[in-house]
Amino acid sequence: QVTIVGSSNVDITALMNRLPGPGETVLADSYQLSPGGKGANQALAAQLAGARTEFIGAVGEDSHAKIALGQLEEAGVKLDRVSTSRQPTGVAIIQVDSGAENSIAVVSGANSTVTAEVVNAAGTLHGIVVLQGEIPASGIKTAMDLATDKVVLNLAPVIELDRDYLLKANPLVVNEHEAALILQQLDGSETMSTEAEPVIAEKLMAHGLASLVITLGANGCLVVEQGTEMQQLSAVKVKALDTTGAGDAFTGAVAARLAHGDTLAQAADFAGKFAALTVQAHGAQASYPRSLDAL
Ligand code: ADP
Repeated sequence: QVTIVGSSNVDITALMNRLPGPGETVLADSYQLSPGGKGANQALAAQLAGARTEFIGAVGEDSHAKIALGQLEEAGVKLDRVSTSRQPTGVAIIQVDSGAENSIAVVSGANSTVTAEVVNAAGTLHGIVVLQGEIPASGIKTAMDLATDKVVLNLAPVIELDRDYLLKANPLVVNEHEAALILQQLDGSETMSTEAEPVIAEKLMAHGLASLVITLGANGCLVVEQGTEMQQLSAVKVKALDTTGAGDAFTGAVAARLAHGDTLAQAADFAGKFAALTVQAHGAQASYPRSLDAL
């Protein structure tokens, strides 16, 4: 079993020729409402990757709530402990121009209410617990305290988290940029490291992490566990159409395979194949494979 405590949003994406400047109005060609939020994306990925999955988060009492959770419900993700907040369902307001350049404003809304109190009220967290950086740190810490199995921490975005809690991650799953930011946080350094990823990985492990995966986009990922040699797994060679939500697909799939009993390297290898399928289709949740036959 996998339990994801995290964010769920509605992405409002408008397509336009060029992005408006300050004070300017442009006419957009079309828009789309789609479910998003790292927590919800990862929950869908874990479920589709074969794990019995529960999502714990919060939505508003508004029409967006149904959209935010629609794909999860359809896929059979357990949603009984999603709380309803007086705050609106989280939204990401995304503008995309004809060159695929974007500008994004995120309103956390109900996600900002997933605090220690709300997570505590949920009670027991079953199986592998998966957390991201889109809910308050107090919610993340409480979920870690309640976890009885491994905690997969995808600290994206990178928020301040006490060292003791960061080091509970097993594994920490982050991209190269986030890895450098977290190293800076652990080092208490003024500047971000520009060293190569394997060096950053070694340094993160030297702080006492049990295990770590750094994702490298089309270059695959680095996998390292305390006391073992670092491995670089290559990505599947595919024609990428839209990488939105690929990192979330990867994290959810890693958790699903860990719950199944895979080693971290086996789980990351599967997750790479799973994520490669998602970059070949548009959207985040819409691009996640509904069948594992291709794997
Ligand atoms: P994020 O979106 O969080 O930065 P990455 O871009 O590192 O995450 O992607 C996560 C994983 O998705 C990668 O480790 C890889 O397995 C897979 N992936 C991403 N982009 C591609 C691509 N162009 N081709 C194949 N696999 C990809």
